[in-house]
Amino acid sequence: MTLKDKLDLAIRNVPDFPKPGIQFKDITPIFLDAKLCDEIAESIVNNFLHNHGKVDAVCAIESRGFFIGILIAQKLNIPLFPVRKKGKLPAETKSFTYDLEYGTSTLEIHTGVIKPHWNVMIHDDLLATGGTAMAAAELVQMEGGNVAGFSFIAELDFLNGKDKILPYSKNLVSLINY
Ligand code: AMP
Repeated sequence: MTLKDKLDLAIRNVPDFPKPGIQFKDITPIFLDAKLCDEIAESIVNNFLHNHGKVDAVCAIESRGFFIGILIAQKLNIPLFPVRKKGKLPAETKSFTYDLEYGTSTLEIHTGVIKPHWNVMIHDDLLATGGTAMAAAELVQMEGGNVAGFSFIAELDFLNGKDKILPYSKNLVSLINY
């Protein structure tokens, strides 16, 4: 079975969550399978390094980006830092506010964590409209990093999130597209 087939089986569709009309892709069954987690991280690392070159750090997006993000960083033996929702990071932060379908949301990054000219891979579980990944890219740039690219377990093609993030980097890895 290919990795895509395994992901297709593991990722569970939950209709009308968190609100009516949204088909939620529940990735939590993936983490019941240790080997699958390893395969996902390995595939992202191989794909990214083969196609897109050197990475100095992983920026993992709260909260479902943390799971595979840390595995990627460990495999590459490089640092990981989180980007979190407003008010969660304890030390000095910079923030970026972006539009949601209704209202806005704010993400934050600890200041001073990115070393000058680091090439940073931004990782999250899923690319939907792209607003979240774009906010992470803005924060990485605000802190002096280069956006080396983006990696996701899954991508919802019909929401065109790609269009929002490609201006930051053409390097994009998604293991399964819906
Ligand atoms: P977006 O900013 O629209 O690209 O949304 C991306 C973030 O929202 C990711 O952190 C996902 O975990 C979450 N997300 C958005 N839509 C879905 C969905 N249909 N199923 C699962 N997670 C989603």
